Amino acid sequence: MADRNRFPAVVLYIALVFFTAAVAYPEEDAQIVKLGDDIFARIVNPNGNAVGNAGFIVLEQGVLVFDTHFTPEAGQQLLQDIRSITSKPVRYIVNSHYHPDHTHGNQAFPGAHIIAIKKTREDILGKDLPSLNRTIRVTESQLDGMREKSSKETNTGRRDALKQQIQTRQDYLSTLSQLKITLPVVVPENYMLIQDGSKEVRLQFLGPGHTDADTILYIPSDRIVFCGDLFFKNAIPNIQDANILKWMDTLKMILELDADRFVPGHGIVGNRRDVERFLAYFEQLRAIVEPFVLGGYSVEKAMQDIQVPAQYSRYRFMNFFTANVQKMYAELKQVQLLSIPIEGPKKPKN
Ligand SMILES: [Zn+2]
Repeated sequence: MADRNRFPAVVLYIALVFFTAAVAYPEEDAQIVKLGDDIFARIVNPNGNAVGNAGFIVLEQGVLVFDTHFTPEAGQQLLQDIRSITSKPVRYIVNSHYHPDHTHGNQAFPGAHIIAIKKTREDILGKDLPSLNRTIRVTESQLDGMREKSSKETNTGRRDALKQQIQTRQDYLSTLSQLKITLPVVVPENYMLIQDGSKEVRLQFLGPGHTDADTILYIPSDRIVFCGDLFFKNAIPNIQDANILKWMDTLKMILELDADRFVPGHGIVGNRRDVERFLAYFEQLRAIVEPFVLGGYSVEKAMQDIQVPAQYSRYRFMNFFTANVQKMYAELKQVQLLSIPIEGPKKPKN
């Protein structure tokens, strides 16, 4: 079980960019799952410091790593696990998309070629870097305020509590300051083949989804797909940067691949049925939200009235559900606005 007291800074940062559900899963911080002779997934506890899953493939001349977790420390732990299996150098890092829980461990692999499609590199520079800088500035100003408050506090108990909070924030700031945004240097447009020894590894951008740039890793010989965050297993997905309707198309393309094991960005390794179930979640979400759009009801009413369907009530990341409804509503509304009939939009029913 992750000792959260060891990672207060990480937990705070997660609270800013990524909500996690308080579910113990799995017990340890991470689990190495062997998927083939030389293919491994590192499935992590969502409450630990790694947050997103990673994977690695031991090729003839070196190791290819798919995603690097949420912190440099978690990246180091991934490297240690790789070292327990092979002494070959880590040659390639692939970032499935720009989110920090898949890229902030990059710096633990100096000398490796970091690969991501062009848009992902742009997103790291244009979205993640400013977000990190913003977080540092906010934390610094919070620290200033807390220090001032502490200097004026006359009650010993309250002053001690404030000092403790200041220490926690300082530790957090020091963690953030050690983070170096390490950019991809190999930026294929949408497809890349790595052939090393007998193993053929395909990196493919199939279309937008979880973000506007998500890359999957497909190993045809072993029928395995590392999906990044295009696939959440038994969890409500994070749709903060998503286009859900396009994501559904991209999932259909993933299902067209000749594969039977699918590694999600969050959750344990799944099979074809699990990916179908994930697509069915979006289809059901669309079916529930569509009448609110067509009936002229407001997004607020949809968000208030729509409850999570019973079969998903035990999913993790339940606090994403209302945002899922809101995003689906916005996308369907957009579709409706783009195809307004000549006589104008339908009148609201109430
Ligand atoms: Zn993500």
